[in-house]
Amino acid sequence: MEQKMKIKVLSIFPNMFNTLFEYGVLKKSIENGIVDFEAINLRDYTDDKHHVTDIPGYGGKSGMVMKVEPFFKYYEEYSKDGEKPYVIMTSPQGIKFDNSVSRYLSEKKKLLFLCGRYEGIDARIEKIVDKEVSIGDFVVTGGEIPAMLMIDSLLRFVPGVVGDNDSVINDSFYNGLLDYSQYTKPYDFNGEKVPEILLSGNHLKIEKYRKKNSLLNTILKRKDLFIKRKLSEEEKELLTEIIGELYNNAK
Ligand code: SAM
Repeated sequence: MEQKMKIKVLSIFPNMFNTLFEYGVLKKSIENGIVDFEAINLRDYTDDKHHVTDIPGYGGKSGMVMKVEPFFKYYEEYSKDGEKPYVIMTSPQGIKFDNSVSRYLSEKKKLLFLCGRYEGIDARIEKIVDKEVSIGDFVVTGGEIPAMLMIDSLLRFVPGVVGDNDSVINDSFYNGLLDYSQYTKPYDFNGEKVPEILLSGNHLKIEKYRKKNSLLNTILKRKDLFIKRKLSEEEKELLTEIIGELYNNAK
């Protein structure tokens, strides 16, 4: 049997994580014993009676900085079973989180997310950090939302979390392209009809249509992804067909 994935987050606001595993497939991942999740209160790893986790930074004028000792203390406790966790520090200065980082993290069996607040964590935290990861070039008030976002995304790659693995591998970015457009009932909505091919029942034709649609969505919405792509012979042929269709429609 697959080893259960362990995820812990270290935060001064652990209750922010209360709802993360209360809905949908993430809830099922806990019920089905695929994931073991715990949000740890950083204040429980302080040594003073006021449970202080942040104090003014050195050098004057900077704001509050999170003390490094409580993070180390928990890290050592979590490593006691002989297996060190893979540590992700949420930070706007880290590498950008994307699908490949998400897949990489999903292969780890023991993860620990560090959530900063204020001006961030004392730089000496680096000793225990495996990856500093950012959710984008903007700053949010704390690492909790970035950690939740990363956990939600990486768990989709853990076998058994999303029931239908096909939906994971067809999703945007998995193969470097955007997903094809989705339709459901009604067939006719305000005069806009679902593409006929999807009702044909011809699976080969539907698959081909979807591949073309996925290429077209990528060209139209994410040129940067399309330009990077090394096109397969099949994709080159599909593109020729797409151009032909666009040309005929424009006539
Ligand atoms: N002074 C820091 C800087 O400019 O690099 C920003 C600190 S931020 C206000 C507080 C905490 O929020 C960070 O320690 C980190 O945990 C989290 N955070 C903020 N923006 C983030 C981002 N883009 N990605 C990941 N975590 C972020």
